[in-house]
Amino acid sequence: MASPCVLNASPAVLQQMKTHYQAFLVPQPAAHTYFMAKKNGTTITAYQSGKVVFQGKNSASEAQRWAAQTQSSPPTQKKTTNDAELQQLRTQSVLGSDEVGNGSYFGPLVVCAAYVDKTMIPTLNKLGVKDSKQLTDERISQLAQTLKSLIPYQKLLVTPKKYNAMQPKYNAVHMKAVLHNQAIYLLLEKLKPEQPEAILIDQFTPAKNYFRYIQDEAHQVKTNVHFVTKGEQYHLAVAAASILSRAAFLESLAQASETIGFPLPSGAGKKADETAATILQLGGLTLLRQYAKLHFANTQKAQQLVAKQNDPPSS
Ligand code: MN
Repeated sequence: MASPCVLNASPAVLQQMKTHYQAFLVPQPAAHTYFMAKKNGTTITAYQSGKVVFQGKNSASEAQRWAAQTQSSPPTQKKTTNDAELQQLRTQSVLGSDEVGNGSYFGPLVVCAAYVDKTMIPTLNKLGVKDSKQLTDERISQLAQTLKSLIPYQKLLVTPKKYNAMQPKYNAVHMKAVLHNQAIYLLLEKLKPEQPEAILIDQFTPAKNYFRYIQDEAHQVKTNVHFVTKGEQYHLAVAAASILSRAAFLESLAQASETIGFPLPSGAGKKADETAATILQLGGLTLLRQYAKLHFANTQKAQQLVAKQNDPPSS
């Protein structure tokens, strides 16, 4: 399929476009949409912001029609946050976000955004809030309980079942970008009228990629968004987000283990292959898709294990 073309139009040009596509308008488009039209296999979605997305087989030629009156591609975000800016973040009121479960075959993908007002920084430091990778599972659960009562946060959890349904359309990075953006947006709404001084995402893809992946989202948070790897070292908001994500992941994995009747391992190693093979024997892919992220290589490895067990080599 042709990739979508994105233009930026002034209000006057938006109006012209709407008139031009009058005969092709789709009734009752989604909120924040100025109009939506379908013409010759191309869907044209114009947003109040001036962004116009052309998708479908004739997207390029249809967008070309407006090239002279518009700017192509959304305004690009500033590149990388420099070190001085990052140092400044340390003492500010920051909304941080992080995810867990992306590398585990079993269990959900969890994204969490957390807000740490600067006055809370000493308290969280005293509690021992830090990167979840440096904490035991037990400590993570305890800290998550405490954090929930201390700071505003927004958690989004994608179960394996839902993940598998989305996965053909969204690659892992796309899915994460959309979830981070959504969690941040929802938390900003909760915080209103208060506003963080900065938003810090634990970086999983270059900023440019991130913004490209969220460009079709209804609500896009683009202002004052910073990216850095090992974000938890720069602000406790990211550390808190990592703890809350990890706690939710562990809880969900424990629930799933209880449902199926045996422990589901975290990670994507040999143990995951073996457990998946057991599940395949019990209920095939129909059962496995409730518990595991099927696009991982573990699925094939488990299928091979099952084939070997059912058909042992003749000696
Ligand atoms: Mn991370």
